[in-house]
Amino acid sequence: MKDSIIHLVRSNIKNLKPYQSARRIGGNGNIWLNANECPIPSLFRTNIESFNRYPECQPKNLILSYSEYVGLLSNQILVTRGADEGIELLIKAFCNPEKDAIICCPPTYDMYALNAKISNVEIKEIPTFKNTWKIDLENIQRNLNKVKLIYICNPNNPTGNIILRKDIINLLKITLGCALVVIDEAYIEFSSENSMVSCLKNYPHLIILRTLSKAFSLAGIRCGFTLANKEIIDILNKVISPYPIATIVADIAIQSLSKNAIKIMKDRVLKLNLNRNWLINELKQISLVKKIYNSHANYVLVKFHMFEKIFQKLWEKGIILRNQHHKMHLKECLRISIGSHVECSRFIEEIKILSKL
Ligand SMILES: *Cc1c(COP(=O)(O)O)cnc(C)c1O
Repeated sequence: MKDSIIHLVRSNIKNLKPYQSARRIGGNGNIWLNANECPIPSLFRTNIESFNRYPECQPKNLILSYSEYVGLLSNQILVTRGADEGIELLIKAFCNPEKDAIICCPPTYDMYALNAKISNVEIKEIPTFKNTWKIDLENIQRNLNKVKLIYICNPNNPTGNIILRKDIINLLKITLGCALVVIDEAYIEFSSENSMVSCLKNYPHLIILRTLSKAFSLAGIRCGFTLANKEIIDILNKVISPYPIATIVADIAIQSLSKNAIKIMKDRVLKLNLNRNWLINELKQISLVKKIYNSHANYVLVKFHMFEKIFQKLWEKGIILRNQHHKMHLKECLRISIGSHVECSRFIEEIKILSKL
């Protein structure tokens, strides 16, 4: 039975390992610190009652709301099913299978490489420098042959660092006319002064990815945005599916972009940043901690003595972290999402107990 199907599968898909999302990894927890979600839900209601009609492909009012929030024109914005769909659409629109390449800079978000693999597009990994996590501009410049897209995550997941603005500008300069630079700003609200949005007017090949999943606390509705100049947005509009944004998703997303909801989001960001700083200070006093990486987002990467035991013991207690040990340059590292203050305190309490064993 199985053999009659398997030989039909594309060879690059046959042995593909799917993205190991927090939901796929599972766990049995009551303190979820593994998916960089916001710990507190934002509550919305919908008055929409009928669903017999297809939604607009690009809901106008949602685009208008985001354009106000981000300070761009409507024609510079594409709404997508999460930022993840933006990553995928860019490869679909710009990369020829088995011919073109993307660059990504590990350790970073895995979805850039995974989408390239699915599309049979070559992946050139140009690692960032260990511990400073600066991008290796010279190495990128030497490897631009065949490259259509360069994915940079800022702040970077899972390391938490900011990529220097001058490095991104230099990257834009060396790629002008030959490749597109994609800055994934999924966490930018936690460090908003580092956004590259203001550079869109100077660089036709700059693309920025955004999401409502993190600071806006709406991971469940699957809504993201691709920001770029009109020429790029027009091309992406050719390849996006006809109805990617459910009626109800657009309704809630619009509410989340009201003046009042944005103020609530900003307050939540301030609170989570305070929780992060508190958590880091507590961790500094714990002997099991080897190194804490500076973070500008709602998570922190920590290198531990006995990381495996810590991960396992906390897992058993229902405190679920994200193991990063398998990733380039991240041996013995765990990523901890910033939860509510109660959740952060519970985590510290358990770590303290473990450090006394
Ligand atoms: C969470 C995350 C995304 C995905 O966002 P969605 O809008 O939920 O698809 C994209 N990039 C990075 C770096 C992320 O951490």
